[in-house]
Amino acid sequence: MKNQSSNTVFDVDTIRKDFPILSRTVNGKPLIYLDNAATSQTPQQVVDVIVDYYSNYNANIHRGVHSLSQEATDKYENARRTIQQHFNAAHAHEIIFTSGTTHSINLVANGFASLLNANDTILVSALEHHSNIVPWQMLCEKTKATLKVIPMTSEGDLDMKVYDELLLLKPKLVFVNHISNALGTINPIEEMIQKAHHVGAAILIDGAQACPHIKPDVQKLDVDFYVTSGHKMCGPTGVGMLYAKESWLHKLPPYQGGGEMIAEVTFEKTTYAGLPHKFEAGTPNICGGIAFGAAIDYMNSIGFEAIAAYEHELLEYATEKMNTIEGMRIYGPKTNKTSVISFNIEGVHAYDLGTIVDKLGIAIRTGQHCAQPIMDFFKISGTARASFSFYNTKKEIDTLVEGLEKAAMMLR
Ligand SMILES: *Cc1c(COP(=O)(O)O)cnc(C)c1O
Repeated sequence: MKNQSSNTVFDVDTIRKDFPILSRTVNGKPLIYLDNAATSQTPQQVVDVIVDYYSNYNANIHRGVHSLSQEATDKYENARRTIQQHFNAAHAHEIIFTSGTTHSINLVANGFASLLNANDTILVSALEHHSNIVPWQMLCEKTKATLKVIPMTSEGDLDMKVYDELLLLKPKLVFVNHISNALGTINPIEEMIQKAHHVGAAILIDGAQACPHIKPDVQKLDVDFYVTSGHKMCGPTGVGMLYAKESWLHKLPPYQGGGEMIAEVTFEKTTYAGLPHKFEAGTPNICGGIAFGAAIDYMNSIGFEAIAAYEHELLEYATEKMNTIEGMRIYGPKTNKTSVISFNIEGVHAYDLGTIVDKLGIAIRTGQHCAQPIMDFFKISGTARASFSFYNTKKEIDTLVEGLEKAAMMLR
């Protein structure tokens, strides 16, 4: 067969059939789901895996000699290998299952409490989600280390000149998101990782907003820590991962104590289990981990190149159409961004916009998007945000634009 990849049409209608929720109605109108940056929808293939787990082999893992336990353990560890391969980690035990990005970041921040002191500096970017700010503030309270902020420009990009200057302080750790959930900015993480390493700093990348759109290669990036959540990439809520270089996982102390994470327990002394179990205390979200693996398989079956190309098309289409609305202001960079449009319409409150378009079956997000410092930077209380996934269509964007025009007319 001829290779037709260059002129293949992205078959969104077929893809939409995988997502049962997309055929429901909301307020009597077909659902138009444009809040993908908050959580993505779940394809039937992943729902089936969840149902199969609870219908056929629900058992605790790593403990029982019985067959069900063995089956559940095999599937869970297979999912870990799927995630390892997807992110191209060198070892499966460098993938730690967590409950999500927030948990992953807290795990690392907690570990660094024993490695920092009052003379140390750590760097955060101005573009972060609260999840990638607050755990580090708590760490600084504990250790008396200093937190410095890499500022952003009015375009919504990071100010790389100031980053270079801040690196002269020889920080111990830098943490930045791969892609901003509030603006869609794609940060220059390759350059940031290299520069951090040049001054001996470790670096953590929050990939929660990147993984639905691109496939990161942690070895090629040479990143120390990379974290993400399953529910932003077609998986269930309550599961995510921490990738860390093996050397870091040996250096960091365990986060929580309990079952599963120990080698031997006496009242005099407990020794910890090997990797990855040292960081996985208690019964994990077994079904969630298996479903996370299935979600990654699902996305790879569509292909990240095809996903990125189609979403870029949606972004350009939506940006052009939305810019025709009177008083429209879109925040963040014009290029080098993912399919997130954060906006306000002059004279209209974002919350009211969100409420009115909901009546039309359209789900958009309004507010601060867990990133108050970004809103403060633009001196606004919040934005409305439409975020597109590979299962959205141009027709849905047309309906959104009509809805926004109608809402603006009513509200002005
Ligand atoms: C969603 C998100 C988080 C938080 O993820 P949880 O799944 O709520 O833990 C952190 N950072 C970014 C950039 C996000 O988009």
